Amino acid sequence: MPDTPPVIEIRDLHKSYGDLEVLKGVDITAHKGDVVSLIGSSGSGKSTLLRCANLLEDSQKGDILFKGEAVKWRGQGLNRRPADPKQVLRIRTNLSMVFQQFNLWAHMTILQNVMEAPLTVLGRNRGEVETAARAYLAKVGIGDKCDAYPAQLSGGQQQRAAIARALCMEPEALLFDEPTSALDPELEQEVVKVIKALAQEGRTMIIVTHDMKMAHDVSDHVVFLHQGLIEEQGPPDLLFGAPKSERLRGFLSSTS
Ligand code: ADP
Ligand code: MG
Repeated sequence: MPDTPPVIEIRDLHKSYGDLEVLKGVDITAHKGDVVSLIGSSGSGKSTLLRCANLLEDSQKGDILFKGEAVKWRGQGLNRRPADPKQVLRIRTNLSMVFQQFNLWAHMTILQNVMEAPLTVLGRNRGEVETAARAYLAKVGIGDKCDAYPAQLSGGQQQRAAIARALCMEPEALLFDEPTSALDPELEQEVVKVIKALAQEGRTMIIVTHDMKMAHDVSDHVVFLHQGLIEEQGPPDLLFGAPKSERLRGFLSSTS
């Protein structure tokens, strides 16, 4: 097997909001097919890290590589910005994000929601996009909801529509930010099931989650973030079964 570069590689990433240093030198690597879960207390920087990874948020220091291609920067420190808008678009569309609050367009049907970005951002052919969109909606178990509006769906169905929308971009990786946190417990499992199926088919994913059982079950690697630094990381059996750091032990006992 030739060595292929990771889909996502983040090296020594630093990010501040004004005086507040939120990421203090974080490294994350996801090879093709890897599922990496990010856990940690509220405010530890998990969302910020995901948003920096797909360039929704600027960072001040460190490298972000997509399939070995390093993000090109101009300026330094608080003035650092991505230098190449085409590169930003390529990376952002290849790292498709699923948010806690689904963010579906209320005035569009579910099918239109899923088709929107492939049509307008990628400029793909309408017929092909519609076929793909219907297939992804069927895959997440809501193929019968194409013509419904978001408000007519349960939270779990809306989140599955948001996952279909992310998939329809045909991204190299999916980034999930607390995908089950806004859902009632009985609806969480239908979303967890979809995420597990995606993991099983070898999708590359980074998942921020408070759901330790899901993190344990789907991940190849788990990263525990504490105040902007990686406190401990490893395979799920070790991280959850034999946590080394006092902070991780405290965090795990507070979540169970
Ligand atoms: P997590 O997702 O782990 O809960 P976040 O990445 O959302 O944490 O936030 C990390 C820290 O950054 C928190 O202290 C939060 O208040 C701060 N923060 C997040 N977004 C912003 C922002 N847009 N402006 C200023 N501070 C922010
Ligand atoms: Mg968050």
